[in-house]
Amino acid sequence: MSIHVLPPSVAAKIAAGEVVERPASVVKELAENALDAGATDIKVETRDGGRRLIRVIDNGHGIPLDEAELAFERHATSKLETAEDLEHIRTLGFRGEALPSIAAVSQVTLLTRAEGDEVGTLLRLDGGEIVNRQARGAAVGTVITVENLFYNTPARRKFLRTARTESGHIQTYITRVAMAFPDRRFTLIADGRTAFQSTGSGKLLDVLIEVYGLEIARQLLPLGGEKETEETKEPGEPKGTILSGSSAPSGSYGSFSPSGPSGSSDPSVSGFVSPPSLHRSNRTYIDLFVNRRWIQDRSLTYAIGEAYRTLLPTGRHPIAVIRIAMDPSEVDVNVHPAKSEVRFRDGRGVFTAVQRAVRTAVVDQAPVPHIELRTHHRGFSDWERTRTPHNHVDSQLALEPQRTADTDPIPNIQYQVSDALPPLRVVGQIAQAYIIAEGPAGMYLIDQHAAHERVLYEQLRDANDTPITSQALLDPIVVEVTGPQLETLEDHLDTLTQTGFEIEPFGGETVLVRAVPEVLKDRNPARVIVGILDELAEGGAGVDEELEARLIASVCKQGAVRAGQTLTHEEMQVLVRDLEASSAPRTCPHGRPTMIHLSAAQLEREFGRR
Ligand code: ADP
Ligand code: MG
Repeated sequence: MSIHVLPPSVAAKIAAGEVVERPASVVKELAENALDAGATDIKVETRDGGRRLIRVIDNGHGIPLDEAELAFERHATSKLETAEDLEHIRTLGFRGEALPSIAAVSQVTLLTRAEGDEVGTLLRLDGGEIVNRQARGAAVGTVITVENLFYNTPARRKFLRTARTESGHIQTYITRVAMAFPDRRFTLIADGRTAFQSTGSGKLLDVLIEVYGLEIARQLLPLGGEKETEETKEPGEPKGTILSGSSAPSGSYGSFSPSGPSGSSDPSVSGFVSPPSLHRSNRTYIDLFVNRRWIQDRSLTYAIGEAYRTLLPTGRHPIAVIRIAMDPSEVDVNVHPAKSEVRFRDGRGVFTAVQRAVRTAVVDQAPVPHIELRTHHRGFSDWERTRTPHNHVDSQLALEPQRTADTDPIPNIQYQVSDALPPLRVVGQIAQAYIIAEGPAGMYLIDQHAAHERVLYEQLRDANDTPITSQALLDPIVVEVTGPQLETLEDHLDTLTQTGFEIEPFGGETVLVRAVPEVLKDRNPARVIVGILDELAEGGAGVDEELEARLIASVCKQGAVRAGQTLTHEEMQVLVRDLEASSAPRTCPHGRPTMIHLSAAQLEREFGRR
């Protein structure tokens, strides 16, 4: 084949692939255009997870009569003129790619009227070609309807997930944009049902109540820059400018005025975070915004995790909504077509600002966790303090200002990985749940279930490249699941297979189980599957390794001996030996303790011998 320039329609489809990955990307692009147009009320309607229809209705400034067609040309934008403008972008869009990309792979109807125009425009496009154009009466604002997404790109269409999954992505996006713009009102109607609505009150906390519910929202801790009374402005934004409201000539936000008398251009951080008592099994509850743009940033997510160091059980993560306002010239948003990744000129500075803001909020305002341990369980009051003399944790805790020399160190809930166990002698079992053991340093009370979870977890995890041993069921069984469980199964089928399951959808809401991981061979497969699917669903989507770790933890939970099970002396010995051999014997994979240690010295103290 000779070199030739691709016809525009082919080029457009290729380019569309970068912008439009799934229905949620269409919603994102259209909602951002509405925001850029200064809309205060944005309504999104979807049908069939957006595969059949996506409609975005806004009360923004509309598109002038003579520009409607132009809006669908590639690289046509009203938001940028020169390359220098790229240095201080104040709108969400600027690439002039969304409308042509969406139009190339769907059937689009645009109805719009600009403020100054007498009549509006109705424009219909099919695969990017204009098929109809009329003058039409319309309210000021824009309605864009996108139907049959990917109808002309079957390969793409195949990759669409179930309506429920796609709806989930759309809802996730809408909640994020609502957090970024508390002063705009967002409504999401999925298949005729209101799935989400924010009030547009301007208060971030009001949005968080809609997203997380009142019970959780009221526990959240405001960050330093959060002044709920003047929420309509981004921190750092000068008051009195036209940052919101449909009167804005075009949405301009994320504008920044140097804060503080020094005129320094430090980023300012506001938002809410959860107290240490409230946590989640994955990082999807951490939302980061830079100048009102939701972003993904591993390093900042890490900074937030670090701010909670020693305060959360291992493997648990906070809820956080972090808004960073900074000089737009300090951040490059033009890194990726979807604009969800940014580059900071001073990454270190942003990292520190975020970590400091979160740490301050958490340490200043959170009730100190688990301090009750001391009063409620007097007998085991300070077992943790004595467990390791070389405890690096104390230096961490020293950060906390309220600590004085004569207060006891707070028992902390993070355990050291290197906290090896001494050889233990099994004494017996109590309450069919705990093993009593003796070691050189005193008495150990071991939770048999948690301990076994830890042992299984390490065995499975370290099985590494060798696939986890799977046990075929003599008779494959049919398990009834719910719709959401089936959804989870679809999403995680690969990981489940790698972990030793052999499951397949079996029509309707049933699945066929052919094999389970060896460690689960004695368990009721139906109950195991349902339990695991629910746990996976609760955690939401995650990156691969995280998912796998979670799945393995979940398998261990199902496979571990339960409380209420009588163990023979030999079984207990095996369990304790295995626990001694594991790398983090003191916690279960979910971060809870596997044991309580009562030192000889403590016993003496408790009995008044010292
Ligand atoms: P970009 O947003 O990068 O400029 P788009 O392809 O998304 O590119 O949109 C092209 C142009 O169409 C925008 O610059 C804007 O002028 C106009 N436009 C699109 N959607 C709307 C809307 N909802 N209200 C007003 N104008 C719009
Ligand atoms: Mg746009």
